[in-house]
Amino acid sequence: MPETQDQQKFVYDFTEGNKDLKDLLGGKGANLAEMTNLGLPVPPGFTITTEACKVYLDSGAEPPALRDEVSAHLDALEAKMGKKLGQADDPLLVSVRSGAKFSMPGMMDTVLNIGLSDQSVAGLAAQAGDDRFAWDSYRRLIQMFGKTVLGVDGDLFEEAIEQAKHAKGVTVDVDLDAADLKKLVGEFKDIVAKETGRGFPQEPREQMDLAVRAVFDSWNGDRAKLYRRQERIPHDLGTAVNICSMVFGNLGPDSGTGVAFTRDPASGHQGVYGDYLQNAQGEDVVAGIRNTVPLADLEQIDQRSYDQLMQIMETLETHYKDLCDIEFTIERGKLWMLQTRVGKRTAGAAFRIATQLVDQGLIDEAEALRRVNGAQLAQLMFPRFDHEVASGDTVQKIGRGIAASPGAAVGKAVFDSYTAVKWSRSGEKVILIRRETNPDDLDGMIAAEGILTSRGGKTSHAAVVARGMGKTCVCGAEELEVDTKRRRMTVPGRDGKDGIVIEEGDVVSIDGSSGKVYLGEVPVVPSPVVEYFEGRMHAGADEADELVGAVHRIMAYADRVRRLRVRANADNAEDAARARRFGAQGIGLCRTEHMFLGERREKVERLILAHTEEERDTALGELLPLQKNDFVELFEAMDGLPVTVRLLDPPLHEFLPDITELSVRVALAESRKDHNENDLRLLQAVHRLHEQNPMLGLRGVRLGLVIPGLFAMQVRAIAEAAAERLGAKGDPRAEIMIPLVGTVQELEIVREEAERVIAEVEQARGVDLKLTLGTMIELPRAALTAAQIAESADFFSFGTNDLTQTVWGFSRDDVEASFFTAYLEKGIFGVSPFETIDKDGVGSLVRAAAQAGRATRPDLKLGVCGEHGGDPESVHFFHEVGLDYVSCSPFRIPVARLEAGRAAANGR
Ligand code: ADP
Ligand code: MG
Ligand code: MG
Repeated sequence: MPETQDQQKFVYDFTEGNKDLKDLLGGKGANLAEMTNLGLPVPPGFTITTEACKVYLDSGAEPPALRDEVSAHLDALEAKMGKKLGQADDPLLVSVRSGAKFSMPGMMDTVLNIGLSDQSVAGLAAQAGDDRFAWDSYRRLIQMFGKTVLGVDGDLFEEAIEQAKHAKGVTVDVDLDAADLKKLVGEFKDIVAKETGRGFPQEPREQMDLAVRAVFDSWNGDRAKLYRRQERIPHDLGTAVNICSMVFGNLGPDSGTGVAFTRDPASGHQGVYGDYLQNAQGEDVVAGIRNTVPLADLEQIDQRSYDQLMQIMETLETHYKDLCDIEFTIERGKLWMLQTRVGKRTAGAAFRIATQLVDQGLIDEAEALRRVNGAQLAQLMFPRFDHEVASGDTVQKIGRGIAASPGAAVGKAVFDSYTAVKWSRSGEKVILIRRETNPDDLDGMIAAEGILTSRGGKTSHAAVVARGMGKTCVCGAEELEVDTKRRRMTVPGRDGKDGIVIEEGDVVSIDGSSGKVYLGEVPVVPSPVVEYFEGRMHAGADEADELVGAVHRIMAYADRVRRLRVRANADNAEDAARARRFGAQGIGLCRTEHMFLGERREKVERLILAHTEEERDTALGELLPLQKNDFVELFEAMDGLPVTVRLLDPPLHEFLPDITELSVRVALAESRKDHNENDLRLLQAVHRLHEQNPMLGLRGVRLGLVIPGLFAMQVRAIAEAAAERLGAKGDPRAEIMIPLVGTVQELEIVREEAERVIAEVEQARGVDLKLTLGTMIELPRAALTAAQIAESADFFSFGTNDLTQTVWGFSRDDVEASFFTAYLEKGIFGVSPFETIDKDGVGSLVRAAAQAGRATRPDLKLGVCGEHGGDPESVHFFHEVGLDYVSCSPFRIPVARLEAGRAAANGR
């Protein structure tokens, strides 16, 4: 082989690669090489590397050395096969297959039978002793090459085939004979000539080179580019190209092609799973052109190949130590392997397979943790539709869209936001159905059980907002025709069946995990995994709990290795108890604002309206025992575990009546000359406290500093509750957290006052409360001055929701509903920064503040209490940054535990 100038090797024979060279050879090429080296029957071939592609993409031309290197490998291949590419009397044919490191939509489809020409088609026929086969192969080449390499509209070829079948009065392609196919070849060539202005290339090497270049070019197709941007796959990886000698499944009934899984991708059970199609080539088996048979039937059709395939599947599974999927072809009774890769699987199967493989001794516990993920666990925790009913006759499946936000929702169909709100206020459950949603639909979306749209994908407004709200959503169910004006939706009739009309008020059920839409009520059953976490179901009780048993074991592995502790965001004893059952190791965020709502609102109003010190003290005095009781219950539920209580955070207007409503009330009273002194004062206060940007207004520590006695009352309630628990032989571990601090001075003032109050309570009760005082880091300034702030804080808790808002300078409520869709579609975000922490921006502040804080105070406790605390990718980031704990909503706790375990198992 000629040495390239810079010694770089651009072409690897299948015998030269292996499965770990995916960066260089792409997934398909690396696995073809691996199978070759395992001694499995892979048709010989070679792979052009991603490096060659990169040169092409950078410079607009193949690397100069590539042509010779390909020639050398082609020579070797020809020597091995004993025939030359396109040789007239006995042609070597090859396939040209793209294969990047990650499989992605929009890459060039494989072209089979390269090397056939007007000349060699006769040679192929003679060699095979089968004219029909040769002409069938040739027409496939022109069709595939025409469409994917030359860019001819594929429908033109399909139409010609349909006409040929019609003319002959047959319905399937196998009923076209050699003469018909030969005629088709002529027509196909005419199509190519007409559409491209030149004839179908007859030179075999030119066919191959053009196909290779087309693969390179497809890397920068629009669909591939968009996909990469959204999935954050770098644009400079490039794709490899595989040249693989052809084997033929279309050589008669003793030939065929199939796909197989080494285990059931739905249950994880071992067995025979796959499909087979006799006398067929390539994609026929998945294209649905004829009915396939279950793989098990191959045993009857071709016992020897079947046995060999079973053997190979076992070899592959043992070798890859995982479920593999496989493409194979049988040519006249000889089995060939054309592809394998670690196969996709359902969430439940992922857990079962991981533990099965541990039991088989194929993988260890750390590897089992890598084989599952939090998204899968979350999926298993959603309630689901009763399968029996969903597939029975009492409900009707009427459509399927994109599974945009998981869960199962049932309700009456409504077609506008106003009705959704109205009906839900009167206690009805509703499903909001729109063609697509926009910011005006927000109230309706909040009111609805679930959202269904007929347009839009995973980044549409409906999908983004529903995910943000944790609400079930199916979007883009295109077969549904939504008519919001007439308040109905129709499913058009098909195949002689009548259409269906769904009117406002009809009950529909939507499955946000599968995208399925039903007319009628599908009962919702609880997730067995949640039943298990709740302690209502025990692992290993019966067969149905194979899944639960697997989850149980994997969670145990995760808990054993993880370094991050997991706490809950919980505001009351009930949530706290649930969180504890789910494995919470404390409360990372107890918000006290809910304790100020409901019937207590009036007392808060009095506090806000207080003119004199006396009035204020009375109001605070009334709130104190109520607050104290809340804390007693909470500390009891979390006995022995830390509970971080955040002092009051939200802007005061949230506790006051709505400005418009109150203004109307006062105006009406005025007109009746019926003055209500209290309402007047209230209105004044409401005006005074009304803010343009409440998110940036009078809230958090600022409240504590301008409303004398407020924080002191809260601290006293916490201290007395803790003292009471101690008196009851409990083990309260309260941590007092000051929100929205921007400078250490704020913290110092609050701290001094708090310490004074605590000392008073300790002295009065004769106890040592061991309360700690810390702060949230949720403003950029706090993060930037973390070294100073740590001087006055026992702990930091990163409030990543507010930190994200303040670092980006946008408010979540406003942006999610307005421009996030556009940003996601343009690929500016791969995912909303409120879902997964923005590592480069917000994350780097977290990292720096954590380091600075620890530098000041090495024992500073560090946690996070934003919603990111339950997001898988973010959990890995917090692990890496070295935080002590994450805190998330009770329902996300298992996900956080699992991901914390996975982060530790990755050994970083
Ligand atoms: P994809 O990535 O879409 O699966 P592949 O490169 O695997 O594309 O090829 C598409 C189809 O053609 C598959 O069914 C594959 O098994 C078949 N195929 C690819 N190369 C050959 C070959 N050399 N001989 C026979 N069939 C082939
Ligand atoms: Mg394939
Ligand atoms: Mg906050």
